Amino acid sequence: MKTVLRERKSNVLSSSALKCLNDAPALSPTAGCAHLCSYCYARGYSNYPGDGTVVLYTNLAEKLENELRRKRKMPKFVYFSPSCDAFQPVKQVLDTTYDLMSLLLQKGIGVSFLTKGRIPDRFIALFKLHSNNVRAHIGMTTLDKQLQKMIEPHAATPGARLKNIRALIQIGGLPEVRIDPLIPGLTDSASNLSQLLKVLGSSRIKNVGINYLFLRPIINRNIRESLRHTKAMKKISQAFCGNIDMPLLASKSRVRALNLDFRQKQYKRISLLAKQYGIKTYVCGYKNPDIAENLTCSNIWQNYSDKKVLQYQLFSKQHSEITLSQSSNQD
Ligand code: SF4
Repeated sequence: MKTVLRERKSNVLSSSALKCLNDAPALSPTAGCAHLCSYCYARGYSNYPGDGTVVLYTNLAEKLENELRRKRKMPKFVYFSPSCDAFQPVKQVLDTTYDLMSLLLQKGIGVSFLTKGRIPDRFIALFKLHSNNVRAHIGMTTLDKQLQKMIEPHAATPGARLKNIRALIQIGGLPEVRIDPLIPGLTDSASNLSQLLKVLGSSRIKNVGINYLFLRPIINRNIRESLRHTKAMKKISQAFCGNIDMPLLASKSRVRALNLDFRQKQYKRISLLAKQYGIKTYVCGYKNPDIAENLTCSNIWQNYSDKKVLQYQLFSKQHSEITLSQSSNQD
């Protein structure tokens, strides 16, 4: 992976058209992402530097300080990152992310992130000092390491992501898990999801976001490339046979989505399965405006915050130990 250092000219904090991020400006430390997930829509962005290259901005902390100084009203949270992962396995990226998150947390501004990377210990120590101001989302669709490597070649292993979850729970961070994307015939199978939900349930995860894959030309090309030697491609093609053209919520972009009937039935099936493990599911309204227009992550987080204290009274030390031993062989 080549890292190119570059000065950032535009603002560091950007507002998002996404309804779920209305109250949180977004911050991307890099253009491009070392994880190279096959379903990544950011690989089609105009500033994408190409596979195998990450552009890291060198002046972010300084610019962030200046931008915050000029603001009349401080944001409650900053979201990392709409077009890259804040925890890419590149030391310079991690150092920059650490500086930015420290700066925000020390000013009393929360950090929210979605990651498929490994969260290093120094971040966990930082989050421990500010656990009420950390909203962690862990992206995870399987416990199968081979399958994960196929679709997310440079992201953290399922075992490392479970370690993230356990570490965050131990410091009172209440992480949320996103099973996204559900890929028809691959990550949405009953066996894959049962194993995953069972481990998540025993790890004291209570809420999980579920979303099916949607296609754009770049995603279609990259998924075909990653899965070309597998039987899964045929199943995906079949599932997308009756696809629909759908606008994403509050966004100009349109995508090819699985048809409504298919998604509704599958979300219901997965929700029932999750319930067996004590997990509630929700469907992202941004990616499924025809199903859950009004339901966004911020609604979920509000519920979380309200219930957080109560839930933590339920987490016993004994449970943590059981979870650690159950999932220690998932790497
Ligand atoms: S971790 Fe996120 S931003 Fe990075 S390649 Fe995967 S989907 Fe894209």
